[in-house]
Amino acid sequence: MNSIKKLYAIFILFLMMSIATIGCSSIKNENSSATEITHEQKVSIVTPEVNEKGTVVILATGGTIAGAGEEGKETGYNPGSLSIEQIIKTVPGIDRIANIKVIQVCNINSDDITSSIWVELAKKINELSKNENISGFVITHGTDTMEETAYFLNMVVKTNKPVVLTGAMRPATAISADGPGNLYQAVCVASSTKSVNKGVLVVFSNYIYSARSVKKSNTNNVMAISAGETGSIGVIRNDEVVYYEQPIKKHTLETEFDVENVSTLPNVQIIYFAVDSDSNLLRYAAAHSDGLVIAGAGAGEFSKSFIETINELKIPIVISSRINEGIITQDSVLCENTVAANNLSPQKAAILLRLSIMNKTTSKDELIRIFSTY
Ligand code: GLU
Repeated sequence: MNSIKKLYAIFILFLMMSIATIGCSSIKNENSSATEITHEQKVSIVTPEVNEKGTVVILATGGTIAGAGEEGKETGYNPGSLSIEQIIKTVPGIDRIANIKVIQVCNINSDDITSSIWVELAKKINELSKNENISGFVITHGTDTMEETAYFLNMVVKTNKPVVLTGAMRPATAISADGPGNLYQAVCVASSTKSVNKGVLVVFSNYIYSARSVKKSNTNNVMAISAGETGSIGVIRNDEVVYYEQPIKKHTLETEFDVENVSTLPNVQIIYFAVDSDSNLLRYAAAHSDGLVIAGAGAGEFSKSFIETINELKIPIVISSRINEGIITQDSVLCENTVAANNLSPQKAAILLRLSIMNKTTSKDELIRIFSTY
């Protein structure tokens, strides 16, 4: 009897140790995920009930538009200090444009945005877009990485309803803060039927930009957002939304990318080439990522030592440029095992490569097709 009891006790002990080990390893796995949303990043995602027609849902993520600091100053403030409810109170007449509902997704500096926040945003928009009372979405966002979030969403949201990003260059506490005007105009664009089927848009300082072309092009100017040689696609004057162009590259409902079954994106790093750049960085980056983007000089060029090292690498490599404007064609790449980014910036090329790797479309021919399609 005693030995049966002993055996039973050993069995229970063994069971408890196994459970403890499983528990530890799952906590460890969770903690080791670099892109997991931490508590500070994620405030809450409380989905509001929407039962009024013509509703615009504002998904707030932080940035300078939610920034506060010393009264009157443009610098030294904390991005992501004010809630979306507080910001809306500074925009007179916004509720005359549309019925507004808000979701505070997170309240952070946009340099701390992660691919898990992107995926969560996309899933939330996809879910809400099925509600016929919702006519469009506005995302408030820091300007530093606004172009990246816009391009990512342009590739993965499954709706033709307007999705409009906006932000500010001056915090809410600065003289002539630009956030309230930008938010007002973004709501005008998101509630306009003219904005349907234009892909994801960015509204900033009276202009409407397409997600593929938009970029931050100035570190401090209030007109920091532009679209370079492509230009804006429309303007807003008072409440009136006027379009001059239609984006023709595939987006939203027309893409092959769907993030419903993922929670983060594969890891793609960007290596920036300059005189005397150490090609060992390429080896290091290749060993720690699923794909690489090179920000080359000129039309995607680099040194002989970079060429030799890139020729050895076995992961997908896309060639973009550190130059702001212009195209790189496939016949001009220096290494056989690389794919030209067309005219996508390194940071946008990295998003497209991450989505391609997610879809397991990584052969050179498939990547050439993808980079000429999107
Ligand atoms: N770095 C901050 C951000 O991207 C401030 C830039 C801005 O929002 O304008 O959130």
